[in-house]
Amino acid sequence: MTADLDLNDLFANNRRWAAGMESRSPGFFSRLVAQQTPQYLWIGCADSRVPANELVDLLPGELFVHRNVANVVSHSDLNALSVIQFAVDALKVQHIIVVGHSRCGGVIAALNNKRFGLVDNWLRHVQDVRNMHLEFLESLPEERRVDALVELNVLEQARNVCLSTVVEDAWHRGQQVVVHGWVYGLHNGLLADMRFSVEHMDDVAPAYERALAALRTRHLSPPAPGEPER
Ligand SMILES: [Zn+2]
Repeated sequence: MTADLDLNDLFANNRRWAAGMESRSPGFFSRLVAQQTPQYLWIGCADSRVPANELVDLLPGELFVHRNVANVVSHSDLNALSVIQFAVDALKVQHIIVVGHSRCGGVIAALNNKRFGLVDNWLRHVQDVRNMHLEFLESLPEERRVDALVELNVLEQARNVCLSTVVEDAWHRGQQVVVHGWVYGLHNGLLADMRFSVEHMDDVAPAYERALAALRTRHLSPPAPGEPER
């Protein structure tokens, strides 16, 4: 009974939201039906605390979104690759943004070998990232390791986007697509740019090396209390 009531709440919320959208912008939904022309593809974590559209304040129709546990882009994941292909080839998005977030449960599980079931196999991709950077991660104080791996994971997954055949082909034919890596702070609601912004195949390796060096510096010599984040 309680469950039914909860779902009724959702329908009531939905009716109120739709009426509000229509009254603020008459014809909003009929315009959306006619066309979707988002400029951005967001690849983020499925975590309920990281709602893509809301935290960049974009309306329906303005952001194409793919989310999974720990924002992984695997070379053989037909789901993510199909989203990227549609976004690039059909929608012609100009920016693809991989967005991780602080205190990511998937990253924590991967870092600490926690077992939850089937998802452990998915998180092997994040463990691959951990293993690639194990020496660096182990050199950090324990309390910084999760957020460092969150950032490393964003870099690796953003690089995977760059190396997908879809993006490679788009760049080859001269289509403008920029791939970015960002991290969202659960504690302050703010997005941080990992300074990995790539728009050409030749830029992938140097941009990755630059972003990785900056990441390592940030974590190996963190700002003193009161000093702004670098
Ligand atoms: Zn997460």
